[in-house]
Amino acid sequence: MVDPDCLFCKIVKGEVPAEIVREGERTVAFRDINPQAPTHVLVIPREHHADAATAAAADTGLLDALVREAHEVARAEGVVDSGYRLVFNTGTGAGQTVFHLHGHVLGGRGLNWPPG
Ligand code: C5P
Repeated sequence: MVDPDCLFCKIVKGEVPAEIVREGERTVAFRDINPQAPTHVLVIPREHHADAATAAAADTGLLDALVREAHEVARAEGVVDSGYRLVFNTGTGAGQTVFHLHGHVLGGRGLNWPPG
């Protein structure tokens, strides 16, 4: 499913530019335009789901594919050994601004806990 009004669906279709770093059968990964760490890549599914919980409820294995792809991004960025964070902001109160599932892959610097 594609939402014609969704910004990330438009990135998948190539209608909005993005610095794409990996393309998989079910996912696309691109650099965040407002990076919060030396590595800040978003991994999104090609199909539209509002958030991780919605995608999980659909039970299609999509989240497995997304997490595998996030790890490949981390490997390509050289941040597996130092550690990276995979974040799914869910809901406006948690900072979600784009309602198309995306995992933030963050790494390349120390990451504090708890997050802000
Ligand atoms: O988790 P949240 O919904 O806030 O994340 C959306 C992310 O999408 C932001 O980090 C923002 O910088 C990024 N973004 C982007 N390219 C766009 C629009 C937003 O990388 N064209």
